[in-house]
Amino acid sequence: MPEKGEVEKVLRQLRSEAEICRRCGLYRTRTNVVFGVGPASARIMLVGEGPGFTEDKTKIPFSGAAGKYLNNLLHEAGLRREDLYVTNVVLCRPPQNRDPLPDEIETCRHFLGGHISIIKPKLVVALGRIAARTLLGRYVGISREHGNLLDCTYAGAKFKLFLTYHPAAALYGAEAKQKLQADFKKLGQILRQTGREPQDR
Ligand code: SF4
Repeated sequence: MPEKGEVEKVLRQLRSEAEICRRCGLYRTRTNVVFGVGPASARIMLVGEGPGFTEDKTKIPFSGAAGKYLNNLLHEAGLRREDLYVTNVVLCRPPQNRDPLPDEIETCRHFLGGHISIIKPKLVVALGRIAARTLLGRYVGISREHGNLLDCTYAGAKFKLFLTYHPAAALYGAEAKQKLQADFKKLGQILRQTGREPQDR
């Protein structure tokens, strides 16, 4: 396991690379690259889809309305956001908040894979179907698979993967809100049962 200082140094290098990245077409419409935030020593990582309007301005993942709701959900699970690492499948905002395209996801894999292989989280929470499909490398029907805890290998790192909806879904429907609340309650139970860290890496 590399020293914390070494992990921070490699993350800084990755951030410098991302901040000038023009590998996919999303660089044309972004205001800022939204790099991941959180402690380099985080054991839990949250992965969303991509920055939205607010994130594109603030450079902070999940800083808009969905992010505020995410903080409530984390509280529900007994987690503090400042203990977690938070990032997205793509680091630049897709225009009009459309889904990132497959080639954009594939190109930005360099950065998501970089985050995961450097930080080596024990648990990753996939927020929404795009994150779930990207990490598992297969089709995921999130309405069928949300709430599941799976084994996952990505960028050479092995970890447990918890699947749930994107918190923005709660802003559009009461049903998704209830499912998200139930999923985060379940996540909290899993973490309590495993001494706050999922086992079997
Ligand atoms: S989305 Fe990722 S690959 Fe595309 S320009 Fe931004 S940082 Fe580079």
